[in-house]
Amino acid sequence: MEIYNPATGQAFQQVAEDSVASIVQKVEKARAAQPAWAGRPQRERAEILQRFRDLALARKEELAQTLTREMGKPITQARNELSALPSRLDFFLQNTERAVAGETVLTEAGLTERISFEPLGVVANISAWNYPWFVGSNVFFPALLTGNALIYKPSELATLTGLAIDRLLHEAGVPADVFATVVGAGQAGAALLDTPIDAVCFTGSYATGRRIAEAASKRLLKVQLELGGKDPVYVADDADVESAAVGLADGAFYNTGQSCCSVERIYVHERIYAGFVERFVLEVSRFKIGDPQDDATYIGPLTRSEQLGVLERQVQDAVAKGGVLRVGGKRIDRPGNWFAPTVIEHAHNRMELMREESFGPIIGIAAVSGDEQALLEMNDTDYGLTAGVYTKERARAETLLARVHAGSAYWNCCDRVSARLPWSGRGHSGLGTTLSTLGIRTFVQPKAWHLRG
Ligand code: NAD
Repeated sequence: MEIYNPATGQAFQQVAEDSVASIVQKVEKARAAQPAWAGRPQRERAEILQRFRDLALARKEELAQTLTREMGKPITQARNELSALPSRLDFFLQNTERAVAGETVLTEAGLTERISFEPLGVVANISAWNYPWFVGSNVFFPALLTGNALIYKPSELATLTGLAIDRLLHEAGVPADVFATVVGAGQAGAALLDTPIDAVCFTGSYATGRRIAEAASKRLLKVQLELGGKDPVYVADDADVESAAVGLADGAFYNTGQSCCSVERIYVHERIYAGFVERFVLEVSRFKIGDPQDDATYIGPLTRSEQLGVLERQVQDAVAKGGVLRVGGKRIDRPGNWFAPTVIEHAHNRMELMREESFGPIIGIAAVSGDEQALLEMNDTDYGLTAGVYTKERARAETLLARVHAGSAYWNCCDRVSARLPWSGRGHSGLGTTLSTLGIRTFVQPKAWHLRG
């Protein structure tokens, strides 16, 4: 399999892809190795994974360079992803034992009732490329800590990072058969689903997520899906326009707009609409576009070349339906996958721009008459990952956010993930939970004990 640099369009490395036979063999070996891994004291597994955390931190620069080369993430943002990783992993290291400790719920007259938690067994993780360290470790780290074996299929667009994770885990002491990596694209993922795994955790698009769920349903596999979003934000009439515009421009365009929780739709109260749009457009037109290896770059190439066509179609459709293009709107003429940061105002929910996940440097802004219309527009979506409200009044924000159909609610912030809080989606945004103690329990199953005597 060729690895391409999306900033140049040039292939720079080849890696060997897994065959169906090698995938089956990895799953068989994982099955055989898992009981011994689960049988080790929790403290030993935690020590090994702590070493992985320390190794990733020590090799941060080299790993950031790899990520930038294969997916085009601007280097400062690649470094940020690796710098933020240790605190995320520390959450799991500090909370796993407590999250899966189990409890005795009744002791009376010779009867004890107890709940314990057991690992699922062999977990498959089919992952995305946009934040491979974060979305990968949300799964493999707690899954390994709780005694599962893991078969990891990184995205074909983040294979080198996937292989680096594999090497570091093994160097840290995770047995080779307990964590194995499958190299390949969709076909390799589909082949993995045909093996006797116990659960599949998936991060990716809604379209692929549905395919995964359909395949898993035939075998009643446990499924956890982290899918896309069309994340809305409402800027109320009392919001601080300056900080909302600057914060939301970053929330929409960071990682070149390729975040599941990036801001994808902005609704602004009509009283402050014009001023907000001017400040937002100014901020976006100042973004430095360029070589992702350059420290000053904020907008890099798109990772997937196919997304260029999606963005072009969204611009055409929006303009045909009355949207006003304020900046950008087209590909940048250079080798690789480049699209200019794009702002379209007078957007509305009948545009693809406001309905389909863009996953790129583009945003639609619409005016609304007040809180009730904002809520209607925000909830007019199949997705439900995150939603935000900018206002000076916390109570106003909380009242609105309680009625919003989304797994995460933001007041005066956006595009934010915390290891302490559950990450989950409604509707087309997914099934199940990662992160928080609830997300640790994703990787265990309860056993009910009825003990008499
Ligand atoms: P994708 O759906 O194209 O691919 C995801 C993974 O699925 C890849 O590893 C791919 O090889 C594999 N795959 C493709 N077809 C398959 C099949 N038929 N069977 C099994 N596996 C298959 O998504 P992507 O482009 O890698 O990632 C972008 C998407 O991920 C966006 O929609 C984004 O919003 C979403 N995402 C969500 C979260 C979240 O936390 N909710 C986080 C990151 C990314």
